[in-house]
Amino acid sequence: MQGHLRRLRKGADDWLTRTPEYPDRGSQWWHWYTCKACGARLTTKSPTEHVCPDCGAVYTGWPYDDVVLDRQHGALAGAIRDLGLMYVLTDDTAYAGKAREILLAMRSGTSTTRCMTSTASPNKGGGHVGPQSLDESTWLIPVAQGFDCILDTLSPEDVQTISEKLLLPAAQLIHDHQWGIHNICCWHDSAYGLVGLALEHEGLTYDAINGPKGFRAQVEQGVTDDGFWYESAWGYHFYTMSALQPLAVAARNVGIDLYTDRYKGMYDAPLAFMAPGGELPAFNDSGTANPLGQGSMYEIAYARWATRGTCCRSCRAGGRASRRCYTGRKPGTDSHFGNGFRNGVSPRFPLGVGALPRRRGMWCCAVGRQATGG
Ligand SMILES: [Zn+2]
Repeated sequence: MQGHLRRLRKGADDWLTRTPEYPDRGSQWWHWYTCKACGARLTTKSPTEHVCPDCGAVYTGWPYDDVVLDRQHGALAGAIRDLGLMYVLTDDTAYAGKAREILLAMRSGTSTTRCMTSTASPNKGGGHVGPQSLDESTWLIPVAQGFDCILDTLSPEDVQTISEKLLLPAAQLIHDHQWGIHNICCWHDSAYGLVGLALEHEGLTYDAINGPKGFRAQVEQGVTDDGFWYESAWGYHFYTMSALQPLAVAARNVGIDLYTDRYKGMYDAPLAFMAPGGELPAFNDSGTANPLGQGSMYEIAYARWATRGTCCRSCRAGGRASRRCYTGRKPGTDSHFGNGFRNGVSPRFPLGVGALPRRRGMWCCAVGRQATGG
C-alpha cells in the first residue's frame, strides 16, 4: 500500500507544476485505431501521425487524431481524482487548488454537442468528452470523486460553475440514456449517481440507486442466482463489478447500504468457479480469465463482508499488482492473505453451468443457457 501511496503522491506532485492542456473537442472510438490494410493496432507517433507497426502505413486526421484525445481527457479526470485524494490524505491545499483549477477549466457537453460513435453527428447515446455515454461515464466517475474530495475548499460560486458547466450536463446526458439492464448502464448509474451524491441532487441520486435501471434493479435483475452476471462472460462480469463498485462505496458513505447478498454473489461466483490455478473457463465471447488479477476489487469485498471465502486467495495471488489500487485494505484489520482458502468441491451452478470438479484440477463445464454479450 505504501508503494501505491508513493505513486499517488508523485503523480499528484507532477500535476502541481504542470500546465494542463485541454482538448478543444471530444475523443473518438478506440476501435477505429487500426490499420485499414492489415488490421494492426496503430501506434501514436505524434498527435497527427498514427503509424501501423506492421506495414508502415501512416494515418492522420479524423478519426485518428480524435481517438488519441481520449488520453488527455482521461489524464485530466485522473488528475482531479488523484489531487483530491492527496488533499484528503495530507490537508495540503495546494492539491485542492490544482484540482479546482482543472475543474473550473473543463467543460462538458449539452444535448446539442453530443457526438455519435462512428460519425460524430449528434445522436442520443453519444458523449461530449467521449464518443459514447459509456466513455462519458468512465471519465465522469473520477471527476466526481475528485470534486467531492475538495468540496470543502470550494466557494459557492466555484461549486455553481463546476456544477452547471461540467458535472450536471454530463450527468444528465448519461442519465437520459439509461436504456436497460446491462454493464454499460451500471457505469451510467455510478457516473450520474456520484454526481447526484456529491451535489446532493435528489433526483439523480434516487434514479441511480432506485430507478428502473438503477443499481438495485441492475443487481436484482442482472445477477443470476449463481452470482454470475447475466451477460455470461467473465469479461463482462468483472467489467460490471468495476462499474457498480464506485456507487456502492459512495452510497455506503452516506448511509445507503447496497451490499446485498445478491451483490455479494458477484464476488463469490468467480472464486467458486476457479480451477486450482485460478483459471476460469471461457464462456461466450470471453476467453479464459483469472480472478486472481482482480485483487483490487476484492479489497472492498473483504472490507464489507470480511470472510475468507469472499476474497483471500484472489488478493494474495494478485500480489503486488493487486495493491496498486485506491481501495486498500481496511486499516487495522488482519491480513486477509492467510491460508484459510480451500478449493471447494464441485459446486453446482444450476442457472449458468454444470459442476466444476476443481479438486482434481479439471473442469467439466456444460453451458446450460446462452445469454447475450456486448
Ligand atoms: Zn498496416
